[in-house]
Amino acid sequence: ATDLPLLEVRGLSVNYGGIQALQEINLVVNQGEVVTLIGANGAGKTTTLRTISRILNPRHGQIVYAGRDITRRKAHEVVALGMAHSPEGRRVLAKQTILDNLELGAYVRSHAAAVKQDIEQQFQLFPRLAERRYQLAGTLSGGEQQMLAIARALMSRPKLLLLDEPSLGLAPAIVREIFNIIKNLRNTGVTILLVEQNAHLALQAADRGYVLEAGQITLIGPAQDLLQDDRVKQAYLG
Ligand code: ATP
Repeated sequence: ATDLPLLEVRGLSVNYGGIQALQEINLVVNQGEVVTLIGANGAGKTTTLRTISRILNPRHGQIVYAGRDITRRKAHEVVALGMAHSPEGRRVLAKQTILDNLELGAYVRSHAAAVKQDIEQQFQLFPRLAERRYQLAGTLSGGEQQMLAIARALMSRPKLLLLDEPSLGLAPAIVREIFNIIKNLRNTGVTILLVEQNAHLALQAADRGYVLEAGQITLIGPAQDLLQDDRVKQAYLG
């Protein structure tokens, strides 16, 4: 079963009222891969992730995850199946501490000792969070909140991590730090679908990439090839 894709999206279309945000997109994420979805503002990247994590309903198409058709499942059900979504804009609980936020990320799990151990593991991955564990999340910098959002998603021990725009609004130094962490996660075998506007960083961190333009996939390939592709260079690598 391990050679089946972990995630397969087939012919997915999503509408907002009369506006078609996604048109028949196909996408595959294999076990252990980091796959990035790049594209301009408004191309439909966030819509894709929100549909996969079952926050939005597709008009047409199918989402198969870990061998199951999840097209009609509810968001909380896919969380229980090991899919974690770190949303655009981070959305940590501002009035709770870092520790509380991490514990909440583990709400689908019941083994307290293992949760504690995983919190320590997150603190190793994100030393900035360790130093601030009793600090309220709302007082963290944007970059630290992004780290917390990723760490919180990892607390569910996801089979698949959906990461939406981790670089959004952050200073270059902290963006580099976050992408180094994503590369480390890749080395530990976490499967990631990464949505990013910063195509350069995303392709450097990924195994494969998809280019989304106005709701359609226009290019697919190994990340290294896309980095060299003239169309990608011209449109996204500036
Ligand atoms: P960004 O990086 O700006 O978030 P994106 O690639 O993630 O861009 P989406 O947010 O998925 O793009 O938006 C795709 C299209 O759907 C856009 O044209 C957007 O205006 C539209 N859209 C998104 N959310 C809604 C909504 N709730 N209602 C109506 N239209 C929407």
